[in-house]
Amino acid sequence: MNQDTLVQLAYIAASVLFIFGLKMLSSQRTAKRGNVVSAAGMLIAVIATLIGQDMQYQWIILGILIGGAVGATAALRVPMTSMPEFVALFNGFGGMASLLVGWAEYQRNLPVWAEGEAPYVTVIAIAIAALIGGLTFTGSLIAYGKLSETINSKAVLYRGQQIVNAAIVAVALICIVVFVINADNPAIAASYAPFLILVALALVLGVLATIPIGGADMPVVISLLNSYSGLAACAAGFVIMNTVLIVAGSLVGASGMILTAIMCKAMNRSLGNVLFSGFGAVVTAGGTAKQGEAKPITPEDAYYILENARSVVFVPGYGMAAAQAQHVVRELGEILEENGTEVKYAVHPVAGRMPGHMNVLLAEANVPYEQLVEMDEINPAMESVDVAIVIGANDVVNPAAREDPASSIYGMPIINVDYARTVFVLKRSLASGFAGIENDLFFKENTRMLFGDAKSSVQAVINEMKEDA
Ligand code: NDP
Repeated sequence: MNQDTLVQLAYIAASVLFIFGLKMLSSQRTAKRGNVVSAAGMLIAVIATLIGQDMQYQWIILGILIGGAVGATAALRVPMTSMPEFVALFNGFGGMASLLVGWAEYQRNLPVWAEGEAPYVTVIAIAIAALIGGLTFTGSLIAYGKLSETINSKAVLYRGQQIVNAAIVAVALICIVVFVINADNPAIAASYAPFLILVALALVLGVLATIPIGGADMPVVISLLNSYSGLAACAAGFVIMNTVLIVAGSLVGASGMILTAIMCKAMNRSLGNVLFSGFGAVVTAGGTAKQGEAKPITPEDAYYILENARSVVFVPGYGMAAAQAQHVVRELGEILEENGTEVKYAVHPVAGRMPGHMNVLLAEANVPYEQLVEMDEINPAMESVDVAIVIGANDVVNPAAREDPASSIYGMPIINVDYARTVFVLKRSLASGFAGIENDLFFKENTRMLFGDAKSSVQAVINEMKEDA
């Protein structure tokens, strides 16, 4: 068996591991193993690629050392609460890597093509890698800024926005055609100029296409950018004719598309509506939220109510992640169960700041999988729930989504905690959530506000329960 056959066999093995790993990631029970299996596949793919070609290893080693040092430092220093924006950033770097692979391959082949004929598949793939990779990079930088709240998370809208974006796409497509036609033109500028314009337009488009999407719609954009990073990698795979990169890129692209569809369903919106309507931005004050008097309670009051509850549903949101309250929440859940209370955890698909955010935190805290319920499952049963405990969630439990047609989140399915007999809301203030809209829930008759950091509040309730035990 020659070396090339061995490399191809290794690629097939890696692809199979990716597919099995991805399958395992679809269940919480097997997700951790799925990660390891996929990583093993990637290791095999990398090793096979490195040994399969005649390379100048000193450059590869230098790249690994620099990239590894930056990555390891970032991974060690980034707090868990900043993971969502870092995931967005990683998507962006994936896009930039694909753009650079395309560019490097174009640069390398220029003299050869100028004297002969350029292969169309490679040239088209270079253009696609540049376009999708470029817009994924800058789009992800904007997503990073919005998630880390270094830039305003609200949508930025201006007159004629869609026409400007459509015009940029049209010019970018013209650049691709001119680039492809001239890739083997002996006058290098004939293809280099449209290529550089294409790269610039892709970078601008990433910014312009992401800024009009704000507030509650960000999960859809994040999943879409994730998918784009896969498609860009797939295009880069065609550029260098590397089968495992094509497979891995397609898998990321396809699973990102599926995630985008899931997020759209969770928001009850179509993809076109999210991308082109600028909806979600217009009403920053959230229509007509009726302010009233919120009813604060102490941990002791909360304890008295919980002591007699037969059923309790925890509804976590971004605030649970910010407070890192998942472990004390699980502890409170266990104490309640020992007290004979039925305990469930209801997870909204867009709760937190990245898809699956709450599931990851609850799994980390060893909350039993059987106790996790989805929104569609818990909502019909909510009226029979004694206490719904909202842990740092806001938008995903905002009744305005159901009741207020003027609200920017109107139509988004929510967890109907206000239908429970009593609702505890654990947060630090009456401030709004990511979508920036008021929440009527805080003023409802059956709502009690337990103000403070979610972790401290839950710990205080636990202390009350333990004292009395
Ligand atoms: P929200 O962002 O609506 O609300 C979170 C609440 O947590 C805030 O109102 C804040 O109130 C509270 N909070 C913050 N820190 C603490 C703390 N230490 N202790 C207690 N409470 C705290 O969160 P949701 O999960 O309800 O909704 C997620 C939102 O993010 C949705 O709009 C969603 O569309 C969007 N989004 C989701 C993504 C995803 O993929 N899941 C990605 C991007 C955006 P206070 O300051 O008063 O404490």
